[in-house]
Amino acid sequence: MYQSQMLIDGRDLPLEEGGDRRAVIYNPANQEAVAEVAVGSRQDARLALQAAERAFLLWSKTSSQKRGEILHEAAGRVRDSSERIARLLTLEQGKPLKYARTEVLSSADVLDYYAEEGKRNYGEWITGPRSRSIVLRQPIGVAALITPWNYPVDLLAWKVAPCLAAGCTFVAKPPSLAPLAATEFVRAVSQAGLPAGAANVVHGPGGEVGAELVESPISRKIAFTGETATGRSIMAAAAAHIKRVSLELGGQSPFIVCADADIKAAAASAAQRAFSNMGQICISVNRIYMADEVAEAFTAELVARAEGFKIGSGLDPEVDLGPMFSRAQRVKTREHVADALEKGAELLSGGREPEGEAYEKGYFFLPTVLDRADHKMKVMREETFGPVAPLMKFKSMEEAISLANDSPYGLAAYIFTSDLKTALLAAEGLEAGGIGVNVNNVVDLQAPFGGWKESGLGRELGRWGLEAYMETKHIRLGMG
Ligand code: NAD
Repeated sequence: MYQSQMLIDGRDLPLEEGGDRRAVIYNPANQEAVAEVAVGSRQDARLALQAAERAFLLWSKTSSQKRGEILHEAAGRVRDSSERIARLLTLEQGKPLKYARTEVLSSADVLDYYAEEGKRNYGEWITGPRSRSIVLRQPIGVAALITPWNYPVDLLAWKVAPCLAAGCTFVAKPPSLAPLAATEFVRAVSQAGLPAGAANVVHGPGGEVGAELVESPISRKIAFTGETATGRSIMAAAAAHIKRVSLELGGQSPFIVCADADIKAAAASAAQRAFSNMGQICISVNRIYMADEVAEAFTAELVARAEGFKIGSGLDPEVDLGPMFSRAQRVKTREHVADALEKGAELLSGGREPEGEAYEKGYFFLPTVLDRADHKMKVMREETFGPVAPLMKFKSMEEAISLANDSPYGLAAYIFTSDLKTALLAAEGLEAGGIGVNVNNVVDLQAPFGGWKESGLGRELGRWGLEAYMETKHIRLGMG
């Protein structure tokens, strides 16, 4: 069985040294044991933070050119190991291997991007009447990087790359039940020429290892992706030291189909973003609002798409959708579907596990389409994090925008229309950090990503992602 070691102070910690606390990682496609992992403790987190603090003295003084070279080297090393990392990702998380590969390779792209972006950390010069002001941006210090299981490599890369490019060092805490690929990613990065202790990984429970990383006075910055409830508690704990926090939290994203939309393209986009990764995406399509006039045509097209996916073990190259990540995720999805049906929704497709021997041991679930949804149902209000697409009709754009904004979340929102004015007015009115117009993805490496309202605080990616690891300093020179 594969053994996953923690990485502390430039050294792989053999399982035996991690004490007798071990966890077994299971494949969600068949519940077979995949790996054994050491379960770290608060003490391991402290040692890693201290190592990162020592390494910061060196790394923060390294030139951005040199840091860039090392980040490019790291990207190359991740690409060289991408097959192995992708396979681990499929085995621990369930997603099809082709998507696991894309995730790992795009993480290498993030490293390449910040290798260059780090060099553009320019200062400013301000001329006063009897003084001059210089404005500098300097690395914050040691960062704690805490990530979830749905995109364990990519979401960590969004933090690791700008953190290192800014001159910060880090301790990463990958998700407890899917730590394998994320740890291998950091290992590849750490071997690219970083000082020992600049990149650390500690495994273990969020409430223990994660809490130590957040509470310790050594960490000056917390970058967290995960549930809104966890983000809230992290923000409260970070308040003790007024730490810098970036929070990428839950979503409940609306998808508006206007009467003038290209219905085939809209249905294909909605199906892909509602069902891929089994709906376990923070920017998943969670609520679909259809203009009355096109509701019937859109619904028929969406159901056909939902029923066209091939489902199975992620290792099968033909498969589009793997299992859900865990029993708990599937239980929650079933419960949300049952709640909707009790409250008057109509089941058009799915709503249950697929039948057959191949599906018996895994956490499989069919892509599910629900008609006649309304805002009393959990599927329209809470984050299901499952492959469910509920449909609701609207009569006017005002109604559509108001329904879309009727949520405590505000991560992404989508609109399909062929009219530019409708698109722009909707984009201005929708309360979300990312708006997709005729596109079902709001992630772009060069653009800011993050949430409004309870979906988060701060931005990742682009130059915003780099600024999140910097403090601003004003130096005033007297000229009197
Ligand atoms: P989670 O909040 O349960 O866990 C995320 C990480 O936080 C894990 O590593 C966990 O061990 C750790 N953790 C838990 N309690 C902690 C504590 N008290 N202190 C410090 N760390 C702690 O989330 P999850 O179930 O792994 O992931 C799913 C959630 O992530 C969904 O809500 C999803 O929307 C969200 N998500 C958001 C984005 C985004 O960019 N906005 C992206 C992906 C996922």
